[in-house]
Amino acid sequence: MIDCCGRKIDYLRISVTDRCNLRCIYCMPEGGVKLVDRSMILQEPELVRISRVMAELGICKIKLTGGEPLVRPGMPSLIRQLKEIPGIQKVTLTTNGVLLKDQMRDLTEAGLDGLNISLDSLNEECYKRIAGRNYLHETMEGIREALRYPEVSLKINCVPLGLEEQELCEIAELARKYLIHVRFIEMMPIGYGKEFRGMQEAELTELLEQHFGKLIPYEGEKIGNGPCHYYSVEGFIGKIGFISAISHKFCKECNRIRLTSQGYLKTCLQYTAGRDLREVVRSGGTDEELKNMIREALAEKPEGHAFLEKAPEDETEKLCMSQIGG
Ligand code: SAM
Ligand code: SF4
Repeated sequence: MIDCCGRKIDYLRISVTDRCNLRCIYCMPEGGVKLVDRSMILQEPELVRISRVMAELGICKIKLTGGEPLVRPGMPSLIRQLKEIPGIQKVTLTTNGVLLKDQMRDLTEAGLDGLNISLDSLNEECYKRIAGRNYLHETMEGIREALRYPEVSLKINCVPLGLEEQELCEIAELARKYLIHVRFIEMMPIGYGKEFRGMQEAELTELLEQHFGKLIPYEGEKIGNGPCHYYSVEGFIGKIGFISAISHKFCKECNRIRLTSQGYLKTCLQYTAGRDLREVVRSGGTDEELKNMIREALAEKPEGHAFLEKAPEDETEKLCMSQIGG
């Protein structure tokens, strides 16, 4: 699929739930967000059908996200069916890792290709302060279990908030010891993220280089589907990556669209632009009607975010990341 700006769109991020077992301060309020009724959330056959139609249009990679995808029962079954769709080459999942230990084997057997585990601190106090729950032990158990399945590629995602006790170098260390790529994601001013300054790539690079020596730009075989740029570090097995939507805007290379758990096709994180696919699916619409809706949405995909400028209020997304599907 080619969008209105000539970009090739082949990557779909599906949010399977708006529920979560953590309350990361930049993503969800302590009391949780207003959850939608379960009947509003797309069911497995609906997700599979939309994915099949998307694959016929050129989507070849799918990422399952949320909320926390592993709180939704049946992820292995969904992954198995998505992998069977002709044209779908890769199905990956992003998780906070809390429930991973017991599900890892089934996810792998279902054909999961890759896993991103979010981890903002290895310091118990700090993890709890950021995630709102004391589940560092469970997340680490999840990571250890994931390392037992080398056929599933593993990445750690960390959002630097600018808190010293986050001990970012300790997280980067994981890439020294294990075949894990550690990626630092710049805080985006979406939902509760607006309340944090975060830490930008240049500042972080300086910190990491003081600790580990020069970060050497990695130019080998492409890693993953996205805008992350990677560096090698002497003595490290994994790479260090940066996803810097603010300081290194990458909208020109955007290859993705998002489906919220309620079936809204979102074409840009910052804007409400998109189409309600659930409405088409539940009102008996044909595959051709779905395809037309998707094509219409792509014809209006925004050129890029305007996080640093003033974007039109009425077109700007008010939902938080857990509701959109980060
Ligand atoms: N619960 C899963 C997890 O934490 O990986 C999947 C959903 S979560 C919304 C996906 C990713 O979005 C996480 O790595 C999280 O840190 C990131 N995220 C959430 N809000 C963000 C923000 N405002 N800016 C940048 N990243 C954010
Ligand atoms: Fe939950 Fe992920 Fe949001 Fe944290 S970042 S509250 S784990 S959805």
